[in-house]
Amino acid sequence: MSASNAGSFERAGQPEARPRAAEVAAAPVPTTRFAPSPTGELHLGNARTALFNVLLARHLNGRFVLRIEDTDAERSQEAHVAQQMADLRWLGIEWDAGPDREDERGPYRQSQRTSVYERYFDELARQGLTYPCFCTPVELEVSRRTQLASGKPPRYAGTCRDLTPEQQARKRAAGITPTTRFRVPSGRRIEFEDFVHGAQHFQSDDIGDFVIRRADGSAAFFFSNAVDDASMGVTHVLRGEDHLTNTPRQLMILEALGLPAPRYGHVSLLVGPDGAPLSKRHGDPSLRYYRERGYAAEALANHLFRLGHSTPEHGFLSMEEMARAFNPAHLGRAPARFEEQQLNVWQKEWVNRISLDAACAWLAPAIPPGVEEQAARAFVEAVRPNVLLPEDASAWAQIVFGDLPPLAEQDEQVVRSAGPGYFSAAASAAAANGNDLQAIVGAVRAATGKTGAALYKPLRLALTGRPHGPELAPLLKAMPPGKARERLARFAA
Ligand code: GLU
Repeated sequence: MSASNAGSFERAGQPEARPRAAEVAAAPVPTTRFAPSPTGELHLGNARTALFNVLLARHLNGRFVLRIEDTDAERSQEAHVAQQMADLRWLGIEWDAGPDREDERGPYRQSQRTSVYERYFDELARQGLTYPCFCTPVELEVSRRTQLASGKPPRYAGTCRDLTPEQQARKRAAGITPTTRFRVPSGRRIEFEDFVHGAQHFQSDDIGDFVIRRADGSAAFFFSNAVDDASMGVTHVLRGEDHLTNTPRQLMILEALGLPAPRYGHVSLLVGPDGAPLSKRHGDPSLRYYRERGYAAEALANHLFRLGHSTPEHGFLSMEEMARAFNPAHLGRAPARFEEQQLNVWQKEWVNRISLDAACAWLAPAIPPGVEEQAARAFVEAVRPNVLLPEDASAWAQIVFGDLPPLAEQDEQVVRSAGPGYFSAAASAAAANGNDLQAIVGAVRAATGKTGAALYKPLRLALTGRPHGPELAPLLKAMPPGKARERLARFAA
């Protein structure tokens, strides 16, 4: 069998051939989906998959749907559903249909689709393509190990494939509740064109009969995922590479049910700095982790957009621009590495781009209560070039509005060696002119004849406690009145 999915996308900028009228009438609306299982938090790999799917849908002027894959009742949690939806929306991802935006193709939670699955289970049973399997997990494990030990790839041995109705009845009478397996046809070649990995082919004889219904009656992944893609009108499945070998199973189910197969593309895995895949199970930073640290969604999206997807667009892009520029033909096959440093480059770009009002709103939590609006704005303006995250602004807020910790020893020496004359000139200028750097510098230069670093460094240390930081003049302007004089006077005696 071969899925009827052509594997090419238009290259960016090239017009697509105009379809004929009959094709227009028949062509389904391009539809992509993101289908998380609510068993944990979304990690960056999930977020990238969701982003690519929404961009592909927008690029094709199609629909993007969100489907919650919660048939595994034991591992799914309602709290994760809410968290995942909030995280996606935070990232700027909105769906045309989903659990909170139902339409005629829903419901969009698998736990509410039992009647849909039952219909298709019955259809497969009617065709004699399924059978009950009474093997226990222990028996399956023993069989798996035996096959491995004899150098064979493990697959279901077919133990229950040909049980007679009497044998089945005896098993049931013994209290064993069976799973349901799909009878994989023998001697078939399954082909499809993956729009990331190119032509794929599998032999059905390498695939054991697989479970499509668990013992508790719930639909298993291969089945519900494939059936839902078809019944929700999904035309393009863009998902993690770990699902590539599941695709032939899903194509067999769709074929047996006479349902349309989507086109599949399997994106390379996202790996961390150590080369290990980012996975929600291994405690890797989640989307929420970055959100809570104060990273901007736009910065994260710009970074994810370029992970495993090459683009000639170098600048910071909006969601709309990303959708225009997204090109599935440019999805890479090699694992993509997530680097926080690269994310920081986009974050910095974002910090520099936003309006002062937006920066003030973003950094408001870093500013101590009671600071007047004007001083807060002056502060944000002064520190913005030195801020990547709100925590950086908090450190500067403490310096500007709070008390300074004692100087580090080598800094104390720099300050002391400038001499009391230096600081009494500086303190008097501050007393006369307020937090005015120019006046202070002018007075110190006149009193000491110092220039360059010898002139500026002790001032910076005495005023901020740090050898480096934002430009000093605007920082002083944000300080409460009298503060510069007070800090300079400490070293005047
Ligand atoms: N629920 C599956 C997962 O989270 C979806 C896989 C798919 O996109 O088809 O891995």
